Amino acid sequence: MSFLPEFEKLDREEVRMRLYSCNADDVERVLNKKRPGPEDFMALLSPAAEPYLEELAQRAYTLTRQRFGHTMQFFVPLYLSNLCANDCSYCGFSMSNKLRRKTLTPDEIEQECLAIKARGFDSVLLVTGEHESRVGLDYFCNALPLIKRHFSYLAMEVQPLSEQDYRRLRSLGLDAVLVYQETYNKTSYARHHLKGKKTDFNWRLQTPDRLGKAGIDKIGLGALIGLDDWRIDSFFTACHLRYLQKAYWRSRYSLSFPRLRPCAGGLSDIRPMSDKQLVQLICAWRIFDSELELSLSTRESPFLRDHLLPLGITSISAGSSTQPGGYASENPSLEQFATDDKRCAATMAEVVRAKGLQPVWTDWHPGFCR
Ligand code: SF4
Repeated sequence: MSFLPEFEKLDREEVRMRLYSCNADDVERVLNKKRPGPEDFMALLSPAAEPYLEELAQRAYTLTRQRFGHTMQFFVPLYLSNLCANDCSYCGFSMSNKLRRKTLTPDEIEQECLAIKARGFDSVLLVTGEHESRVGLDYFCNALPLIKRHFSYLAMEVQPLSEQDYRRLRSLGLDAVLVYQETYNKTSYARHHLKGKKTDFNWRLQTPDRLGKAGIDKIGLGALIGLDDWRIDSFFTACHLRYLQKAYWRSRYSLSFPRLRPCAGGLSDIRPMSDKQLVQLICAWRIFDSELELSLSTRESPFLRDHLLPLGITSISAGSSTQPGGYASENPSLEQFATDDKRCAATMAEVVRAKGLQPVWTDWHPGFCR
């Protein structure tokens, strides 16, 4: 059982035509609906919803406060390695980029943990490139217990693994895994993923199934905005989410909205999304699913982040470094992409408080969710 058969039934061109033919009546009908489905979500994503930004924002705000209260979770990425055996057109870690490669040793991991802990974080997202032989299961099995001693919640964004591997990592304290499909358009996917195991679209697409079967507490989805039409990719992500929620109802789900950022060897043919469209997308997701954790990273500018915080976002990173050793070392390696919001965690906590929200440093303890 996996999402693949459902995915194959979806005709991208037909989705495009239906989405772009939504009108104002469709949008108004969905704004008053209690439980919108993927078809309704399509109207919220459509160009017809753009004039309704104020209504979308108000509804998103209300739903978020009803479900999550006045809270904002904080997390920070911990880059363990920039080794990668893939070539992706948009990423500074691509194997063809000539850069100093670095994988943190146990001592260096300890130093990073202490530096992150000193900034107040209790929830970390472990990030690596995708290098099966040098930064694979054995490396993770050694690293996780070291890191778990310092933090109560561990998420990972690494190469897709097998169900068995996820079970093993879960037993070592892994709580959440983020695996972005990047784009649900197979043709665009092939154009941007040029070499390595990541070229296998279906293996990646079925990763959330393996996570659900392994009983991972939280599964993160998303499309990389800029690779293809964000409206259509978001609709496909919603179909993926609904399938997973039915099949693996014990897991929680989160969603991110990464927009392509400049990086070494950067990409020119991106399909940009405006700031207003990002607001539309975040509000549309909140209205579509009031339970979903929506996360916003430091890719976005301080101005935009400050204005988006109350609308639907429930979790943010702050003071992020996208390079291995970036918190403790004075000579870190090359970054994966440039962040825009450079404010430290303490400053962001002040910003959050000024918005009437409470910074939360510890995520739910997984023991409460099972
Ligand atoms: S996006 Fe991921 S897999 Fe692709 S080059 Fe960057 S680190 Fe490697």
